[in-house]
Amino acid sequence: MRIATFLYQGGIHVGLVDAKAETVTPLALGAERAGRGALSLIESGDWSNVARMPALRLADVSLMAPIPRPRRNIFCVGRNYHAHAKELLSSVFKDNSKDVASWPIVFNKVPECVVGPTADVHLPVGISEQIDYESELAVVIGVGGRNITRAEAMQHVFGYTIINDVTARDVQMRHQQWDLGKSFDTFCPMGPWIVTADEMDGNHTRVRGWVNQELRQDARTEDFIFDIPTLIETCSRGITLYPGDIIATGSPAGVGMGMNPPTYLKAGDVVRVEIDGIGVIENRFV
Ligand code: MG
Repeated sequence: MRIATFLYQGGIHVGLVDAKAETVTPLALGAERAGRGALSLIESGDWSNVARMPALRLADVSLMAPIPRPRRNIFCVGRNYHAHAKELLSSVFKDNSKDVASWPIVFNKVPECVVGPTADVHLPVGISEQIDYESELAVVIGVGGRNITRAEAMQHVFGYTIINDVTARDVQMRHQQWDLGKSFDTFCPMGPWIVTADEMDGNHTRVRGWVNQELRQDARTEDFIFDIPTLIETCSRGITLYPGDIIATGSPAGVGMGMNPPTYLKAGDVVRVEIDGIGVIENRFV
């Protein structure tokens, strides 16, 4: 299933998108539950009995992030494709390049930076001159747990969505910890919906990113340094994961910082991220 959160006639709704992405069937959740988006379904476990309302044309609704306000910070993985590790070896990954194979880098984005799949991203004028994109597969946790093993990990995956891990490189670099440079308002476009884990395999898909229709990123998740079970095992070591938690799996090579010379986003640029089996998000930078 593909679960979308959307605005229609002034209200927030959660619905199921058909296979051709032409219609969305709203679920009768009531305003309070629907306001939390897909999170309300993920937390409730069994929602098969929720009544369905007449289908709407997808073109007539306004998609929001499937989880418009995550319950807490988004877990994000740095350096998870071999080619990306290489392209930023002399900058972002300079201090930990020796240790590539042992442990993932994990940082956070604050939940309030999430915006929808076609929302504008606001350049933080006067604060950063180096805004960059990162096209990423995001794993949405279903059943929570602590100390989840690799062998059990995939049973904890509810589904997948797309994020753009928008990054202010200068801010990321100067604070040692990355959170500030990753968490500016609007810096986490997400969507267009969540595809449930029974419909796709995040360990075998293709991630692509374009800037103004120029293909910059193109990778397969088979190239992950740390696969999804390893990421879930790592993030749940001694820390309870909850339904609806999100783990962004890292960026392929081809970010602006890795270009020669480095090339950052400017007002008017449009970044499109597409993942096979999910769909597309496309956001203008203003
Ligand atoms: Mg990233």
